[in-house]
Amino acid sequence: MLKIINGRVHDPANGVNGAVRTIAVKAGRIVAEAELDSSAKTIDARGMLVFPGGVDMHAHIAGPKVNAARKMRPEDHRRATPIRRTPHTRSGVMGSTPSTFATGYTYARLGYTTAFDAAVPPLGARHAHEELEDTPVIDKGFLVLAGNNEFVLDCLKGGELEKLRHFVAWLLDAAKGYGIKAVNPGGVEAWKSGGGNVTGLDDVVPGFGVTPRQILVALAQTTLDLGLPHPLHVHANNLGMAGNWATTLETMKALEGRRAHMAHVQFHSYGGEPGALPTSRVADLVEYVNTHDNLSVDVGQVMFGDTTSMTGDGPLGYYLHEVTHRKWFNGDVEMESGCGIVPIKYRHRSHVHTTQWAIGLEWFLTMGDPWRIALTTDHPNGGSFLAYPEIIRLLMDREYRKEACRAVNQKALAKTRLADLDREYTLDEIAVITRAAPARLLGLADRGHLGPGAHADIVLYDDTGPPGATFANPRVVIKAGAVIVEDGEVRRDVRGQTLYVEAAWDRAVLPAIEKWFSDFYTIQFDNYPVDMVYLSHPARVPTTR
Ligand SMILES: [Zn+2]
Repeated sequence: MLKIINGRVHDPANGVNGAVRTIAVKAGRIVAEAELDSSAKTIDARGMLVFPGGVDMHAHIAGPKVNAARKMRPEDHRRATPIRRTPHTRSGVMGSTPSTFATGYTYARLGYTTAFDAAVPPLGARHAHEELEDTPVIDKGFLVLAGNNEFVLDCLKGGELEKLRHFVAWLLDAAKGYGIKAVNPGGVEAWKSGGGNVTGLDDVVPGFGVTPRQILVALAQTTLDLGLPHPLHVHANNLGMAGNWATTLETMKALEGRRAHMAHVQFHSYGGEPGALPTSRVADLVEYVNTHDNLSVDVGQVMFGDTTSMTGDGPLGYYLHEVTHRKWFNGDVEMESGCGIVPIKYRHRSHVHTTQWAIGLEWFLTMGDPWRIALTTDHPNGGSFLAYPEIIRLLMDREYRKEACRAVNQKALAKTRLADLDREYTLDEIAVITRAAPARLLGLADRGHLGPGAHADIVLYDDTGPPGATFANPRVVIKAGAVIVEDGEVRRDVRGQTLYVEAAWDRAVLPAIEKWFSDFYTIQFDNYPVDMVYLSHPARVPTTR
């Protein structure tokens, strides 16, 4: 039992905005103070801010492409300061794609207690679970890629929406995933079947005769019909291309009336002609999102520096390689998806990179409802999650932001609205976009807040100093009621939970799935069930929900 007293509590989900409150913890959960007895340990948080643990709803921390990126960039690991072994913790390497142990400890040291990998191919699920098992402290889970899955496309081709629903439920169940993601729907399949792509919502996917629009709408509806906690997670077509804002707007309109989450929306907000310099079209898109509450976004903020782009969008990886001339990895084509990995360095002087940086900040500063926007860098695509405190400072401190604007490409900056935006985020709004909103958008009712029944994931920050330093150095991080981090040091190693959904499906769909696997992968199912393709070590299947 634990009692945190005298701290200024920021718990926007429960309407607490900086009031001094006592937070009581029993058996890993937040409880009413009356439930504690005299044996409760007390933490005096005078001069500190009390926040719920951070929730990262879109990052890349496990799965085949994360591993490929780890192997592909030894120079990146070598440059970074490694995490040394301590009596409590394992060692690990850092850089833009840290090892599993380093990922868990580093998130915890930042005050993040839950993080989701946004894109795991179902065939890579088993390994992704093994990695998540090795990612300490934080709770975690992943979204399963489905937007280019041949079985999905086959169902749509035949108009078999009920079969699709059972398949998606089976897929989640077999892969032990938390939600469904569509990455460049139809485009990755086009890439795999001849090096092409799709360029708009009504292009036809070769071999299937279906369109990205059909895939999006059917998967969005399927997630709703299944009652999944998180709606369809959308990586729209034409990511990164000048002029793609029109595709993004059309995608949002196609989803009208259905809940959906638009991932890393910064990368989808570009005006200009294809092949020319991108411009900002945030104003058009944010106006649409502000007036359509079925949609939520995470930003995918770009930060200057060296990082690794990794995406399930195979043709995009190739495009980035062509633009940057840097080494390139194309993979997962044998799975139900694809992927591309390219190192990237975002430069202050670059017109394109400055535009991307400003577009991300424009999204934060013009979005009306903070409950429908989450802070992400699409780690590591726009930058590492280690950049979150710096982003918070840019949002909270107008003068600091103006200073930062002086260091970037002025021509590019002048074509955005960033210099005119005076908004400053409050501490409460920061609590919303870094924990309360992402938890709510993911459908995690017992995370992202400090009300009775919530997981006792709590962070204490110093109440003084610039916000960047405050949020980079939590004084105390508590996970499930246990003090894990004190004054920047991980004092205790614990295992978080893997979160996944249990969706109901009809066994009648199994023969069709087995036939599909047999046709595409020449697998025989005489001796074991088809689920074992994904998770053939039952002992490694997460035991918690
Ligand atoms: Zn991503």
